[in-house]
Amino acid sequence: MLHHTLIIIILILQILTYKEIKLLQVVRKMSEDIVYDVVIVGAAAAGLTSAIYTSRQMMKTLVIGKDLGGQSLLTNDIQNYPGFEKVDGFSLISKFETQARSFNAEIVYDEVLNILVEENKFIIKTTSKLYKCLTVILAFGKTPRDMGALGENEYKGRGLSYCATCDGPLYRRKTVAVVGATEHAVDAAAMLSDIAEKVYMISNRDKPFGDKDMLSLLASKKNVIFIPNSIVKQVNGDLAVKSVRIANSKSGSEELISVDGVFVEMGYIAKTDIIKDIVDLNSRKEIIVDRECQTSHKGIFAAGDVTDLQFKQIVISAGQGAVAALSAYNYLQKLKGQSTIKGDWKTKKPSLHTTSK
Ligand SMILES: Cc1cc2nc3c(=O)[nH]c(=O)nc-3n(C[C@H](O)[C@H](O)[C@H](O)COP(=O)(O)OP(=O)(O)OC[C@H]3O[C@@H](n4cnc5c(N)ncnc54)[C@H](O)[C@@H]3O)c2cc1C
Repeated sequence: MLHHTLIIIILILQILTYKEIKLLQVVRKMSEDIVYDVVIVGAAAAGLTSAIYTSRQMMKTLVIGKDLGGQSLLTNDIQNYPGFEKVDGFSLISKFETQARSFNAEIVYDEVLNILVEENKFIIKTTSKLYKCLTVILAFGKTPRDMGALGENEYKGRGLSYCATCDGPLYRRKTVAVVGATEHAVDAAAMLSDIAEKVYMISNRDKPFGDKDMLSLLASKKNVIFIPNSIVKQVNGDLAVKSVRIANSKSGSEELISVDGVFVEMGYIAKTDIIKDIVDLNSRKEIIVDRECQTSHKGIFAAGDVTDLQFKQIVISAGQGAVAALSAYNYLQKLKGQSTIKGDWKTKKPSLHTTSK
């Protein structure tokens, strides 16, 4: 009896497994067969605005972002976005997202690792999938600069953070280090001094730089200790950060400082290595675009902080996002021998996309 029951259970398990494998194969094939009209890399001001515009033009649109909101999430006090006297980054970006989704843009959380050119298509490789598309909009902004210290990658998210505004509140009455000495670092140290017991500010400069008022506020903080001419060589700990080894760049002497958290606040850079062999970059590694947000590679457009436009602001990223989207649309129209547009005047929402194959 027991023997029979066992055989039945094994048979049921086998059928289930077979069904699951079949389902997986179908799902995998579906994602391989879809060719998006546009894949937008970056889900923040530039990328989400692009998505609003491309999906309104009935382009099958996929947005891939490591997070939703990018740098805008780092501020609770935006005072220069038209239409809002004052708004926090999260609320503003949530509106962008809702609007993009309302026009059927798809949004996935993933990291783009590579972009390959295949005849007249592009293959976007993420950590989990491959996506095919006819045009690409690069809107992946700027990312915090790394320290380049030993243990930096190991302790990311385990006591090492690149955002004092986001993670600072976790360090109430603890000891933290802020690495850097320019505007971002000064703001971070001043903010953390109200939360943490002690704040070390470590920099290879001899004094902090930035806004005069912020510098005098920082000088008034008794629990902020500035360590000049020093770099962090190593971050140490067990499950979480416990200390940093710093080296004096003048004397070469080294010191171990006990800390519970490290905030790397060394500014932002364009991490464009993933596309450096495909599109032209300037000396700051920003993507060079023309007035239509076209890059040096046909079919690839770029918008926002990742481009070589001098001013880095949310409204500018959004504006460029719209330009890149309409340019991508016109590019596809020209390929199909159809008419192009000069603006987006539609008042009706599109209902369904046509999928390119
Ligand atoms: C502290 C702070 C305060 C600011 N205050 C203001 C302000 O008050 N007003 C104002 O106008 N501007 C302000 N700015 C500037 C503003 O935030 C930026 O100009 C704007 O956010 C840029 O938008 P973006 O979409 O171009 O790029 P980002 O905001 O940098 O977003 C890039 C997106 O790309 C994603 N990404 C990156 N790499 C990859 C990858 N490989 N794969 C997938 N996704 C990727 C990121 O996760 C993110 O979603 C501030 C910036 C900071 C740091």
